[in-house]
Amino acid sequence: MAKIIYTDNLKEGIGGSFTPPLFPPVLNLFGIGNGTIKIRKKYIKDKGILNHELCHEKQFKQNWFHIFRYRFSKKYRLECELEAYKEQIKEYKYKKFDKCKWIIKALHEKYNLDMSKEYLKDRVYEIWKKESVKK
Ligand SMILES: [Zn+2]
Repeated sequence: MAKIIYTDNLKEGIGGSFTPPLFPPVLNLFGIGNGTIKIRKKYIKDKGILNHELCHEKQFKQNWFHIFRYRFSKKYRLECELEAYKEQIKEYKYKKFDKCKWIIKALHEKYNLDMSKEYLKDRVYEIWKKESVKK
């Protein structure tokens, strides 16, 4: 598993990050290549953020090319982030879609996706809807 560090040494406005290792996941077998999860100190009890970053670790472990696809494909980046934000929606148990506003805003502003807010709203609505019927 990735090393988890609680630190404020993160870009402004970022609550957590996953930094993949430089090595392919197969080297995990030898104890290297695990990557690092950084979480802002004030979120030390926030399981949602932790699960978001663990989801990125899982994506990385499923396919090493994840790093490149994530960097170069906006479409792929969106799918990865939706999967990760779903973990937060699940954890926070949002009953109203209104609560997801900050996620739409983050997707619109922080990931260089070049996608309309309307489209992002629809995509977040899809995952919120799926989670909200489970309860
Ligand atoms: Zn993310």
